[in-house]
Amino acid sequence: MALFERSEEIFEDENILHDDYQPQSLEERDSELDRYTGYLQPVINGSQPRNIFLYGKTGVGKTAATKYLLTHLKTDAEQYDDVDIETVYLNCEDLTSSYRVAVSLVNQLREPSDQISRTGYPLNAVYEMLWDRLDEIGGTILIVLDEIDYIGDDDSILYQLPRARSNDKIENSRVGIIGISNDFKFREKLDPRVEDTLCERELHFPPYDANDLQNILEKRAGKAFEDGVLSGDVVPLCAAFAAQDKGSARQALDLLLEAGDLARRQSDPTVTEQHVRDAKQLLEKQRIEESMQDLTSHGHLTLLAVVASTVSSPEDIPLQKQSIYEQYQNLAQATSRDPLGGRAFHNHLAELSMLGILDRVKRNEGRAGGIYYEYEVDVPLDAALSTLENLHMSDELDLDSLRDNACEKGLI
Ligand code: ADP
Ligand code: MG
Repeated sequence: MALFERSEEIFEDENILHDDYQPQSLEERDSELDRYTGYLQPVINGSQPRNIFLYGKTGVGKTAATKYLLTHLKTDAEQYDDVDIETVYLNCEDLTSSYRVAVSLVNQLREPSDQISRTGYPLNAVYEMLWDRLDEIGGTILIVLDEIDYIGDDDSILYQLPRARSNDKIENSRVGIIGISNDFKFREKLDPRVEDTLCERELHFPPYDANDLQNILEKRAGKAFEDGVLSGDVVPLCAAFAAQDKGSARQALDLLLEAGDLARRQSDPTVTEQHVRDAKQLLEKQRIEESMQDLTSHGHLTLLAVVASTVSSPEDIPLQKQSIYEQYQNLAQATSRDPLGGRAFHNHLAELSMLGILDRVKRNEGRAGGIYYEYEVDVPLDAALSTLENLHMSDELDLDSLRDNACEKGLI
């Protein structure tokens, strides 16, 4: 018997739904693209490029629009002999200091045979290499710093780069910077002088509504799926779910991909509304599990304390901090850990609430008692338990009977 068989033909090309696929046209972004094109116009005219700052929540097309326009800009510039354009794209997610950004820029601008190592130079030396290389290339150089907020507080590069020409560090090239950020507060944190230069032109990408998302998805789905595989309500439902949440095209595409994948795994011939609903649950569960996995061991014990208290006394939900704390102390002792003090424990409760794993309910005890909080689990209890089970915290904790108990009481 064959171990592998070709699965039900659901996708014609599933890569088209992946995040890094570059669509040939961008839907529902005409006015943003018009303005963006206008901001890049000086490049074609051979004058000093403007520094552009793009902001908006995740998944609203900032990266896609930038790559799309820069590709066109380069092609369209070919008809003018006196315009030379070089573009550099850098995602700063792993580049959390000016040093790292500068090294990456040097290496991207240099030939593969002439790369520098990521450590070992003084920052100034790296800047010198950067100015030298920029000057050597000449023409117009556009540098995209995507997810620019990751650079953090060590952001001297954001002062140096836009001023390199006026500070006589380079003379042959014109450098323009395109900064992109998901973080609305990023601008406020900048020194006003940096803000002025870095954000000469700015562009906001708003979230998509359900109609926008439906059009975006339809274009992509047409190429990604085999003909006739998608039931009529699948795309509108993905669009509606994503619009209700954050208005992110990335989220809508992920949902559609997961729904198709579910149909394929279940060997169903078509993708239906039910696949979308199941895919939504699955993705949510994954998201929760990921955020829970990143906690420290005391964070996990704190969560376990809330889960265990929920199962042992569901009638007391939302739970008082003191009873959770007592439960936590028992669990810490059972796993041979020193329990944290009250304040540190409180910080874990606060973090879990911030992550949306717990819900914090404010109580007001009248004049004498003041304000205090009570807590309850704000994710499916089943997801919380599965995550804790997967951590293999200790054999001394009997999570199996906790789960059985929760089942008996109808909590999962
Ligand atoms: P951001 O950079 O704002 O987080 P992206 O540009 O990476 O978002 O977009 C997320 C995904 O959605 C990508 O796969 C992108 O191709 C797609 N996308 C976003 N906006 C559009 C659009 N207007 N038309 C087609 N696809 C889009
Ligand atoms: Mg992006």
